[in-house]
Amino acid sequence: MTGPTEPDDLGPTLVHEHLQARDEAVLAQWPHTLTLAEEDPLHEVDADGAFEIAARLAGRLTELGVRTICDPSAMFLGRDVHLMRRVAEQTGLQVVPCTGIYTYDHLQPFFAARDADEIADLFVHDIEQGIQGTEIKAAFIKCAADEPGITPNIDKIHRAAARASVRTGAPIMAHSRPASETGPKQIDIFESEGVDLKRVQLAHTGDTDDLDYIERVLDRGVFIGMDRYGLDLYLPYDRRQKTVLALLERGYAERMFLSADHCATLDWFPLAVAEQMYAAGAARDWSMTLVPEKVLPELRAAGMTPEQEETMMVSNPKRWLAGV
Ligand SMILES: [Zn+2]
Repeated sequence: MTGPTEPDDLGPTLVHEHLQARDEAVLAQWPHTLTLAEEDPLHEVDADGAFEIAARLAGRLTELGVRTICDPSAMFLGRDVHLMRRVAEQTGLQVVPCTGIYTYDHLQPFFAARDADEIADLFVHDIEQGIQGTEIKAAFIKCAADEPGITPNIDKIHRAAARASVRTGAPIMAHSRPASETGPKQIDIFESEGVDLKRVQLAHTGDTDDLDYIERVLDRGVFIGMDRYGLDLYLPYDRRQKTVLALLERGYAERMFLSADHCATLDWFPLAVAEQMYAAGAARDWSMTLVPEKVLPELRAAGMTPEQEETMMVSNPKRWLAGV
C-alpha cells in the first residue's frame, strides 16, 4: 500500500491473494534461481518478471472493480513490502500487508530460543513501527496449522500471534486444514489467550464441504475463508460454489470471505512438476481474477443478492480488519 488505508476506502476486497510466494532464504542465498509464473503457459521468471506479472494481475483486478487485496505472504513466503508498494503505486490497487510466520512446524534456532512473548514483540513491531524498515504497517497477523497439527512450535506461533493481537487490536488470519480438523484447536488457543474471536479469520475453511465441520467452526464466532477457488486439488470448484450457496442459504454471508489464494508467482515446484500437476487438474482456472470474473457472476445467477455480495466483499473485510 502507499499509505494507511481508512476502513471506508477498502471497497471490494479479495482477502487472500499473494503478489508473490517464495522462500526468502533461497532468494538471498541463490538469487539466480527463478520462480514460476502461475499463468498460462507456465513459465519461469526472474525478479523483474515476477514484478511484471504481479503488476499485470493487480491492474486487471482494478479493471474488474476490485479495490483492495490482503496479501498474507508472511515470513517463509517471501514477504516483500517494497514489491507490494511498487505494485500499488503502479496500478492503484490497495495492498494490505501482514506480519507473522508461515510454517507448518519447522522453526530456526532464532525462534527455538525465544518464547511466544518475544516472537509477539516482532509482530507488534511490524504493526506499530512498520515493515522491513519502511513506515508501512502490518494490518493483520498470519499463522498456520496444517497436516502436522498443533505441534509445540505451532502452538508457540499461535500464542505469539494471539498476544500480538491482544496487545495491538490487530486481527488474525490463521491458515487451517479442515482435513486435519485444525480449526477448532486453533480457535481454542486464541480463546485461551483472550483474542476477540470476531477478529479471527480461519483461512481455507472452504477446502471442505462438510457443513457440520464448517458450522462447528462458525459457532465459535470467527470468519471463514472460502478462499481457494481454483485449487481443485483441495476441493473441486463446483463443490466450493455449492458450499458457499448452502451457507448463504443458512444466513452466513456475514462470516464468509471469497478469494482464490492465488500466487502471481510461486517457487514451490519446478516447472516439470507444476506442468504435471496442472495436467492432472490440480489447479484448473486458478487465477487472481477468478473470483470477480467467474465466481461472483455464477453466484449472482444462482441467487446471491446484491446485499450478500456487498457483505462478503466490502463489509466483512472492513469488520475483520478494522472492527467496524
Ligand atoms: Zn495463502
